[in-house]
Amino acid sequence: MSELKEALSKEYYKEPAPIPQSDSPFASMMERFRFAADILDLDEGVFQYLSTPEKVVMVAIPVTMDDGRIEVFEGYRVIHNSILGPSKGGIRYAEDVHLDEVKALAAWMTWKCACVNVPFGGAKGGVRVDPKKLSMPELERLTRRYTTNMFEVFGPDRDIPAPDMNTNEQIMAWIMDAYSMKSHKNDTAVVTGKPIILGGSKGRREATGRGVITTTLAALNKLKISPSDASIVVQGFGNVGSVSAQLIYEQGAKIIAISDVSGGYYNKNGIDIPKAIHYSQTNGYSLEGFDGAEKISNKDLLELECDVLIPAAKEDQIDKDNAGKIRAKIIAEGANGPVTANADKILEENGIMVIPDILANAGGVTVSYFEWVQDRHGYFWTEERVNRRLNRMMREAFDNLFTVSEKYSITLRQAAYVYSIDRVATTLKLRGIYA
Ligand code: NAD
Repeated sequence: MSELKEALSKEYYKEPAPIPQSDSPFASMMERFRFAADILDLDEGVFQYLSTPEKVVMVAIPVTMDDGRIEVFEGYRVIHNSILGPSKGGIRYAEDVHLDEVKALAAWMTWKCACVNVPFGGAKGGVRVDPKKLSMPELERLTRRYTTNMFEVFGPDRDIPAPDMNTNEQIMAWIMDAYSMKSHKNDTAVVTGKPIILGGSKGRREATGRGVITTTLAALNKLKISPSDASIVVQGFGNVGSVSAQLIYEQGAKIIAISDVSGGYYNKNGIDIPKAIHYSQTNGYSLEGFDGAEKISNKDLLELECDVLIPAAKEDQIDKDNAGKIRAKIIAEGANGPVTANADKILEENGIMVIPDILANAGGVTVSYFEWVQDRHGYFWTEERVNRRLNRMMREAFDNLFTVSEKYSITLRQAAYVYSIDRVATTLKLRGIYA
């Protein structure tokens, strides 16, 4: 950091954002990693190997702003591990991105890919910028220069970025183009989450919600609850929440509550989900004013009695303070890190089955894998084929974890970490340490 600080003038240098607190999603991830390592009796050297990112790259990104000034932004890419294949992970643009957060998110991606048997390692990238303060041409120049500076890191066989917070299809298209200009060929497979016309995959937009529901249906089956008898609560009505709600609605389930930043909406007789989606889409992606339900708080929504609670908004929603009040039979983690590590124990004691994020929301990375496969073949699948293969992989992953959880008498979350870490560690042993 100090080298970069010296390289940049004081005027442009921004102090790093604070390191996350001990109950942050990242600290929670490390706690779960340690627990799984103990169960597996992981060799100390392997533990160290898997706790240390393989590569950490930090770059200065000078951008000529529209008024002619030069501004310098800080960009990161962390490859946590590439034992299972090229590393995969999103790029976020946010003013408070810091290296520790990116390192932890990169590790999270390693476990997520291993958990669903996607042959990728884990990575994450970030640029410390508030994209809302940039014009489109400035955003394009920033993205292209970040890509150019990462040319030796990215690559279809090395490291494959994807969208994350504040990055989208357009930004992925610029990354693909900038990389291809430097490599002198059309490298569509260098990035996923691209527009379909540019080598994106059909079904990618709905993939995460679809994976949430495939695993939810598998969990309901284990508890012998028919989907048509199930009551569902969904927190967050964006991409993941609204698709999850729609797909389980189509299975005949009763969605008794939904929510977004404007608050919660409750109807004990069931909410008309297509109507709610239409309302939100025609109301600036907000449920504010939706009349098919009575208004409740987001806090009360989480504590409603139901069969399945799907937190699909943001991290840290269920913590040690409200975990004891959750009255769902199943929690399907659509969001990343919606349950803190210190809430896990309380949910376990209360017999609540948690489908962990690294399984439940891995449908997105699974279809990103399909996108990469299609780009490399230059042959594109029908949406029906994408969905069929996604359902199969998610279902198999759920069954694998269920078997591990029974074998060790542990929760599905613990099983997910045990399964993923074992997979990476076993591959590492077979490959050996290169010297
Ligand atoms: P999104 O921006 O489309 O939707 C987020 C929704 O949550 C919005 O409806 C927003 O109003 C709502 N929300 C925000 N704060 C809230 C709060 N305090 N209470 C209730 N609702 C609130 O985002 P998304 O793509 O649906 O992602 C949601 C979560 O899923 C994130 O944690 C994300 O990291 C995770 N995730 C997304 C994908 C994906 O493919 N989109 C993949 C894996 C994980």
